Amino acid sequence: MNVLVINCGSSSLKFQLIRSETEDVLAKGVCERIGIEGSRIVYQPEGAEKISKEIPMNDHTKAVELVLESLTDPENGVIESLAQIHAIGHRVVHGGEDFESSVLIDDDVIRAIEACSELAPLHNPANLIGINVCRKLMPGVPMAAVFDTAFHQTMPKKAFLYGLPYEAYTKDRIRRYGFHGTSHSYVSRRIAEVLGKKPEDLKTIVCHLGNGSSVCAVDRGRSVDTSMGFTPLAGVLMGTRCGDIDPAILEYYEKKEGMDIHQVMDVLNKQSGVAGLSGLSSDFRDLSDAAAAGDERSQTALDTFCYQVAKYIGSYVAAMNGVDVIVFTAGIGENNAVVRKGVFKYLGYLGVKLDEEANTRRGEEIRLSTADSTTPVYVIPTNEELMIARETVALAEK
Ligand code: AMP
Repeated sequence: MNVLVINCGSSSLKFQLIRSETEDVLAKGVCERIGIEGSRIVYQPEGAEKISKEIPMNDHTKAVELVLESLTDPENGVIESLAQIHAIGHRVVHGGEDFESSVLIDDDVIRAIEACSELAPLHNPANLIGINVCRKLMPGVPMAAVFDTAFHQTMPKKAFLYGLPYEAYTKDRIRRYGFHGTSHSYVSRRIAEVLGKKPEDLKTIVCHLGNGSSVCAVDRGRSVDTSMGFTPLAGVLMGTRCGDIDPAILEYYEKKEGMDIHQVMDVLNKQSGVAGLSGLSSDFRDLSDAAAAGDERSQTALDTFCYQVAKYIGSYVAAMNGVDVIVFTAGIGENNAVVRKGVFKYLGYLGVKLDEEANTRRGEEIRLSTADSTTPVYVIPTNEELMIARETVALAEK
């Protein structure tokens, strides 16, 4: 079965065509700057160079049309006709409490995703556009929605409730939802395979460290706590997001700087995190380089990040009463030796020692801890698209 995986953002659309039997990526790419001047499609068939074309894309319909044209192009396409796309999997950011797992999309599902839009106003409407365009252009093809929040729906109340009036939860749906669920789910299952165990036999802590970062406690295959909250702003500080802060800061900052709440939120989302602390960059490569060259604020930003990740690991060891394996994933977790070493510094109490040679490797599935470490630490590259394709196939075949 060939599955088209679509990840639709407000001005971008990422796609992969995956052959489910072999899990090969037949082609992948991205449409950027949709609805903005200078839009372009980058398309890469398997085993070939990227092809980048600047083409006007006024809306997502045009973007999906271009993706389908690229996939069926006589010269660079990978399929002969659209009939060879057997199912479509859509990433959807927020499923609220309505979705504990992926689902086949029908009118009721669309209505429920719409109802979750107030919880994710930047993301869900964009995801819905992708769904509606695909339904229009490829009617009859089974489509699945795979939610970032679904994996965390197993969290117990004590982990997802905030200390607010109970009605904030029952009436206004304010609670911890957690994000990056597809990644945490994929990585926690994959590490079980690597260790030759069942997910049900493991207490796993997954550190998804990228531009957005979250840590997740996976107890016997089920998410029991995670660092992101009601929104992806919570948890460890990130590229530009502040992570956990005292909520009273908002009012104080608003008054002090003469800003309104929207301006404060903009600072928290876009001008904070390691970018805000360093004053240099949200990219951890830049920070590692600058810190190595003696830039003090970049070093402080990195130290703060590693410390916060380590604190979350510690709290999840407590939450699960132990841990069998810790895993790093995503851009920073898979690649950044400085951050990995920085987090390892705090893990001595778990009998964890860093294998310095392994830590020089990038983007590989590898054990980072030495053979004599009591708790193993691994890198497992995440693969959200593959996970979406697997979920879509399982639903389409039902
Ligand atoms: P993501 O959001 O998962 O794409 O992760 C983006 C982050 O990963 C950025 O901060 C990058 O600096 C970091 N990253 C990606 N590749 C590397 C690399 N080769 N070395 C160090 N950091 C990297």
